[in-house]
Amino acid sequence: MKSESMEYTIKNYIDGEKLDNVGNTEYRVYNPAFGKHISSVYDTDKDMVNKAVDHAYDAFLKWSKVPITDRIKYLFKLENLMRENIDELAKMVTIEHGKTFKESQGEVMRAIENIEAACSSTYNIMGRNNKNISAGIDEEMIRVPMGVFAAIAPFNFPVMVAFWFIPYAIGLGNTIIVKPSEKTPLTLQKTIELFDKAGFPKGVISIVNGAVETVNALLTNGKISGISFVGSTTAAKYIVSTAVNNHKRFQAGASAKNYELVMPDANVEKVIPHLISSFYGNAGERCLAGSVLVTLPENHKKIVDLFKKQAKDIKLGYGLDNDVSMGPLIRSEHRERVLGYIDSGINEGADLMLDGRTFDYKKYSDGYFLGPSIFDNASPDMTIVKEEIFGPVASVIEAKNFEDAIEIINKSRYGNASTIFTKSGEYAEKFVEEIQAGNIGVNIGVAAPIAFYPFSGYRDSFFGDLHAQGGLDHTMFFTDSKTIIKRW
Ligand code: NAD
Repeated sequence: MKSESMEYTIKNYIDGEKLDNVGNTEYRVYNPAFGKHISSVYDTDKDMVNKAVDHAYDAFLKWSKVPITDRIKYLFKLENLMRENIDELAKMVTIEHGKTFKESQGEVMRAIENIEAACSSTYNIMGRNNKNISAGIDEEMIRVPMGVFAAIAPFNFPVMVAFWFIPYAIGLGNTIIVKPSEKTPLTLQKTIELFDKAGFPKGVISIVNGAVETVNALLTNGKISGISFVGSTTAAKYIVSTAVNNHKRFQAGASAKNYELVMPDANVEKVIPHLISSFYGNAGERCLAGSVLVTLPENHKKIVDLFKKQAKDIKLGYGLDNDVSMGPLIRSEHRERVLGYIDSGINEGADLMLDGRTFDYKKYSDGYFLGPSIFDNASPDMTIVKEEIFGPVASVIEAKNFEDAIEIINKSRYGNASTIFTKSGEYAEKFVEEIQAGNIGVNIGVAAPIAFYPFSGYRDSFFGDLHAQGGLDHTMFFTDSKTIIKRW
């Protein structure tokens, strides 16, 4: 069922063809700055998903035999094409997600860097060889591509997350089917023409749209070897357990609650801009966003005052307009959810010292805007500290000392990222050693690993053992070992 006229049409991309994305359940796609319905996505039914997998499997049988050096040439072409189209892709990210154009450019750039990293990690496909492991017997282990992989992406990075997986999976000889978020499917649509221009054989990369029904069809298809997932912990748990029951490999990046500790020796004036970009970049809809600021008594007041002063200057607006520093949230329901957290912070006794609800966004009265909020005097047992908010709300906890701060941070159920700001090598080293999180920043607000390092995560922020992005993790995840014992 199609609804009112729309600016963008979503297609599935199967066996190199753009096919109509039709189905019973509609998910509306909005430009969140204007609250405008710009497109719709439908769950792809099981028959069409199975057809996509069959084609991807047939493609795998041929693609896996293409020499690595030739496979990489396709990736080089794709990298060039993405680079030529950075601004166009970034514009689409802003339209469907709302982040500022500069943030969108940064996202596309990281997608491109992942293609580059994949070219080298593909060459890392290493085996082992031993002579005479027993009298007259040689043994060899080779790593081989496995088949069809599926990647399931979240809304907050419409293009980058898909590229955490696509280039590695295919560079190593597999084929891949991507299921973008039903909230932000448009930028990946734009990459279809780039896949075609790069000349990939049909079925090497596919896209199926939708939400739960589409994901279930992928999870239960026996020809899919592995699932790469990024999204909330709730969905990750379901997806991982279903993947295991269907005999698939999995890796799942999940929710986060990131703590940033500012030590008394840190240069507060230099630290604050990093805090601003960490807590409020991407409107706080970032799995590496700072969410809890931990201070010590020596400089608590100075930090909070300056943080508030600079946060007040944040300008809300449409990400494609000039001098806008923060875009909207993704949906009105999500805005309501974040407002609920602001209420809970007030009710549980934290001091709302900057109220994001009072920020001006009248020019965009139908958009899903919310200004930056700061809660002072928060404590570890409060809901705003325990749960992922995924919005522009900072909670400040004043710890007694460094040891107390470490204890507070390590109590979190999540462990995606954590940062220390300090001039002291000793505290920095202790922090790195003690903190239970996958990505650690030392004087870095957003501890985002470069593409050729794994994107780790501890506790409820990650399920699996081989992480997204480049390096050996993906060389292992997207290949299997085969051991050959030989006597001649
Ligand atoms: P989400 O879990 O709602 O959706 C993610 C994907 O899973 C979507 O494609 C969605 O269609 C699908 N999905 C959702 N529920 C499902 C279900 N029950 N069964 C099958 N499929 C389902 O997440 P989101 O709101 O799109 O993204 C935000 C979340 O992602 C945040 O929690 C954020 O921290 C997390 N995230 C984590 C990382 C990381 O690397 N750890 C990176 C980005 C985002």
